[in-house]
Order: sequence, then C-alpha cells, then structure tokens
Amino acid sequence: MHYNNNKQIKLIFLGPPGAGKGTQTEIISEKYSIPAISTGAILRSAIKNQTELGKTAAKYVEAGELVPDDIIIGIMKERLAEDDCKNGYILDGFPRTTAQAIALDESGAEISLVINLAVDDDVIIRRMSGRRVCCTCGATYHIEYNPTEDNKTCPRCGGPLACRKDDEPSVVESRLKVYHEQTEPLIKYYEEKGILRTVIGQEKLEDTTALTLNVIENYLKG
Ligand code: AMP
Repeated sequence: MHYNNNKQIKLIFLGPPGAGKGTQTEIISEKYSIPAISTGAILRSAIKNQTELGKTAAKYVEAGELVPDDIIIGIMKERLAEDDCKNGYILDGFPRTTAQAIALDESGAEISLVINLAVDDDVIIRRMSGRRVCCTCGATYHIEYNPTEDNKTCPRCGGPLACRKDDEPSVVESRLKVYHEQTEPLIKYYEEKGILRTVIGQEKLEDTTALTLNVIENYLKG
C-alpha cells in the first residue's frame, strides 16, 4: 500500500451517543498506533477517582447534559499538547459543540478527517439499554452484541457488571436531545471545510469497521 508519508491521521469521530464511536476508535487506534482520546472516558475516570474535575463533572454526566465548554476545552488543550499526540490522534466525543470545534481550530490542531457515524435514534435506544460496563476495570460489553456468559460478571477481572448510569432510558433521551441540538450542527461545520465523510453504522460491528477503514485508507492514499 502506498501512502503519502506526510499525511497524519488527526481524526474526529462524530455521531450520536451509543453509535459505536468508542469501539471504532479503539480499533483504529490499535491498527495505526495512534492515541485514542475520549473525553467521556477522561470524565468517567475523574468521577470514579473523585477528583475536583470529577466532582464538578458528575452532575452533568449523570443528567445526560454536556459538561461546560471551558472545562472540556481546558482538558483537551492540555491532553493534545502531550508528546504522544505529535504524530496524530483520534478524538472520540470531542468536539461536541461549535464552541469546542472553534477552540480546537484556534489551537492549531489542523484536523485531517472527520467521520460521521450515522445511526438512527431508535437503534441507539435499543443498543444503549443493553450496554454493560464492569464496575471494577471499566471493560464494556453488550447483552446482545458482545455478551458475557451471564451478563453479570466481567470475564476479564471478575468484577460486577452494571448499566452506565447515563445509559438509563430517561438519561439516554436527554443525551440524544443534546446531541441533536448541540453536536449535530458540527456535521455542517466540517462538511463546509470539506473534511467530513459519513459512515452508516451497520448492524454488525465488523461491517462498520470495514466501511470506516475504507474511508481512512482513501484519505491516506489521496
Ligand atoms: P460519552 O462517553 O462520549 O458518551 O460521554 C459521556 C458524557 O460525558 C456525556 O454525556 C457528557 O455529559 C460528558 N462529555 C463527554 N464529552 C464531552 C464534551 N466534549 N463536552 C461536554 N461534555 C462531554
């Protein structure tokens, strides 16, 4: 495969909560050896460890609302300045508002590609109700798509599995509303910059992965 060597992967995953951005991000991160940065994961870890950030963020995350822009922008500026981001990165869950996208541009990030992972709301609601996370190690499963033997115990560490608090139906509803109102406008924002590609989320994870990899390979070859 011939790549233009000057090309870095600075990729954003857009898409509603539960579309599979996190899963695709992990796969791509491993394949191309570039760091995956998830604002949701950073916030969940801060909440678990009860840091100052965690204490501030918890009430927003648990209500399905967005953490204020200035907090998120501050976290991401610091994270993207770290050494491991020099040769590219994948952003999962950031930016989520126009203000965050503008701040990212103004920081000189020069994003190369934005993949919009499109999944309908009714599919999202079905998927999120089946999602389980290990309370001990944070591994994620799904009772239908990625089940464990009893869907109660983590096969990796033996910890108990639970629903993410913000995956409960009433919270999912508000997360989807927040997505449509505040994050969806970013599709147009990046479309106008000519760097947006849409991947329709498929029923099977590996089919979505194949479509996603195809978009990245085309970018690298182009
Ligand atoms: P996620 O795991 O990406 O679905 O994020 C879980 C929750 O973390 C979201 O529902 C928000 O409350 C918060 N969050 C994650 N990323 C951001 C962001 N870029 N801006 C504001 N809040 C965020």
